[in-house]
Amino acid sequence: MTAADIATRSDDEIRDAVTGWLRENLPKTWVTAIDEGDSGALAAARQALDVDDWWERLGEAGWYFSNWPVAYGGLGLAPEQTANVNNVLRSYKVPRSDNPLGLNVAHALLRWGNEAQRARFLPPISNQKEIWVQLFSEPGAGSDLAGLSTRAVRDGDLWVINGQKIWSSHAHRAQFGFLLCRTDPDVPKRQGLSVLLLDMSTPGITVRPLRQMTGESRFNEVFFDDVVCSDSMRVGELGEGWQIASQLLTFERGTGGGGGTAPPGMEMGRSVDALRRHYGRVEDPITLERMAHAYSCERVAAWTRERVDAARKQGRATGFEASLLKLFNSDNAQALQTLSLDLEGLNGIAHRPDDRWADASAYAFLRVRSQTIAGGSSEMQHNILGERVLGLPREPSADGGIPWRDIRRS
Ligand SMILES: Cc1cc2nc3c(=O)[nH]c(=O)nc-3n(C[C@H](O)[C@H](O)[C@H](O)COP(=O)(O)OP(=O)(O)OC[C@H]3O[C@@H](n4cnc5c(N)ncnc54)[C@H](O)[C@@H]3O)c2cc1C
Repeated sequence: MTAADIATRSDDEIRDAVTGWLRENLPKTWVTAIDEGDSGALAAARQALDVDDWWERLGEAGWYFSNWPVAYGGLGLAPEQTANVNNVLRSYKVPRSDNPLGLNVAHALLRWGNEAQRARFLPPISNQKEIWVQLFSEPGAGSDLAGLSTRAVRDGDLWVINGQKIWSSHAHRAQFGFLLCRTDPDVPKRQGLSVLLLDMSTPGITVRPLRQMTGESRFNEVFFDDVVCSDSMRVGELGEGWQIASQLLTFERGTGGGGGTAPPGMEMGRSVDALRRHYGRVEDPITLERMAHAYSCERVAAWTRERVDAARKQGRATGFEASLLKLFNSDNAQALQTLSLDLEGLNGIAHRPDDRWADASAYAFLRVRSQTIAGGSSEMQHNILGERVLGLPREPSADGGIPWRDIRRS
């Protein structure tokens, strides 16, 4: 079966092909751990995985991006076929991409990019050779993203960029940035934004890591001092940045993203099933009730994800389902990782360094705190749902319709 003809095969043949490929290419210890349902052995296999080699092979095979066109590293599969492949990838618990913002960028380029940009940037995203950063938030513009101040000023075929971004995940290891910047200050705030693809090694870019409460530094401040970028790196039309960024954020929420990822070898959090297998029979009725509630939430989240997928297949806008999913996932993740730490008891906060289970539980508890902020805060998702689903009045706005230049800012 070749990449070019796989889309013509039956669901069973595609399932067999991806299963066969995984069993051959995942480490033997990984496959055995999956077959035997041994989460401890799986955690050890995850830790030992040669991530670069894995992504090189997975990217080459095309399974992770099976909906992309073959020309850009995918398999050209239809949405139902992609769902079939993704189910198998999930059942083998393959590592999630450690280039999550690259996934968002790829989605945006498939919709808004030109041919040259897709051919240049998509293949190295598929094998994780090039890491991306999403340069949106600023010290004065997070929830009010459209009010951002980083300026790009035209100079012939070039743009000269000045300003600052913050909370830029992966900027310290990214080769490219997806920059939302102001190209026209004389029109209302949403109309004057554009997107540029920025080589992060360009002179004038300074990246300063920020320390998180997990002890890691996975996001950063990024400063731009007279940074030069060619207009050929502009995505979409001038002034189309707001539509592109909004669509990208909706995509991110609809994939359950927006909370960042855990570093290689660490899990973002425990599933109910993993807790059940690790702790065995739980007698305490209150803990049992919490586990039942968490399990129900996992099921509802899975169905909500199916609603997002179904809306996508029908070509419908997925905005409100995506916000619902993001809100639900982040609340559930926090409740579940709190339960996980409670089950571990005192050992969850004071354990031996080699106690991998307790260490991962403590890490996940701290890590999921950010999920109700990243990718758009829970309050903003409530606003979206209130206005677009419940039909409540729009939030009052003091800056609607006036040029960005005239908006009062601190
Ligand atoms: C782990 C993590 C990773 C991130 N990665 C990236 C990244 O890669 N790239 C990037 O560009 N950004 C990233 N962010 C930034 C993230 O998108 C912003 O933090 C988020 O949008 C909130 O913006 P803010 O921090 O400026 O908070 P603010 O907008 O200042 O909000 C502060 C508080 O006020 C509330 N609030 C604000 N406006 C309203 C309103 N109108 N109604 C009700 N409540 C309101 C908010 O909900 C929040 O509780 C990341 C954040 C985190 C935590």
